[in-house]
Amino acid sequence: MTSLDDLLVPPGSKVRLADRDPETTLHYADKREAKAATAQDAAEIDRLQDILYAEGRRALLVILQGTDTAGKDGTIRDVFNRTGPIGIRVMPFRAPSEEDLAHDFLWRVHRSVPSRGTIGIFNRSHYEDVLVVKVRELVPADEIERRYEQINAFEKMLVETGTTILKFMLHISKGEQKKRLQARLDDPRKHWKFRAGDLDDRARWDDFQAAYETMLSRCSTEWAPWRIVPADRKWVRSAAIASIVRRTLEDMEPRYPVPDWKPEDFKIV
Ligand code: ADP
Repeated sequence: MTSLDDLLVPPGSKVRLADRDPETTLHYADKREAKAATAQDAAEIDRLQDILYAEGRRALLVILQGTDTAGKDGTIRDVFNRTGPIGIRVMPFRAPSEEDLAHDFLWRVHRSVPSRGTIGIFNRSHYEDVLVVKVRELVPADEIERRYEQINAFEKMLVETGTTILKFMLHISKGEQKKRLQARLDDPRKHWKFRAGDLDDRARWDDFQAAYETMLSRCSTEWAPWRIVPADRKWVRSAAIASIVRRTLEDMEPRYPVPDWKPEDFKIV
């Protein structure tokens, strides 16, 4: 049994994904219990996000990374399905546009960070710039080498200016990915999710795992640590993330602002 604290990547440690079990059920007894906990956490996340919005001083950034079919979309649906849409924004990161490429790699990312009072969810992120970009050798190796520290410095600046950062790597096994890709071929309702390119990435599974290990080792910091979430079971993945998001919001202790007027000063006629 693993506790949620064990999901953390201690800053400075060397990650071996083979040592992390993607199938564990953590401390959850069964699917029903985990789903009930997720629903409760989702409701509580909504309550806390409302106060965070009213307070309007700080932001929460949730970064989701994982190979194709790891469950990034499903996580967002399960964890934030109760959160009012006013204070939340989901940002998917696809291949950069020509305009993005005319700037430094963090330019499009910085423009997408959550504003004060809101929660931002990154579906993929600047970490693609040391993952797919590394595996496919889209920029020179020495440039990628510098990016780990550049990312750490960027995230530190965000934290120092009022943004709490949660980073989740959704860890699935190669066998589970095979099942999920096959389901996309077998189920006509899932055909839209299938891209032939996903098979190219799958063919480079080991290279991607190695790139993940490097970035998890080098970019888990005191101010923005990584967590490796077992994701072969969708209900475990969502329950773990919902619980951590809720606990993080609780620890932030958002407060409704105290007005500089008294209700009795006004009379509505
Ligand atoms: P998803 O798979 O996240 O549901 P898409 O099918 O649109 O969404 O895939 C997004 C694609 O964009 C992925 O293949 C990913 O590798 C690619 N991508 C994201 N960021 C970058 C980047 N910085 N450089 C190159 N490719 C990127």
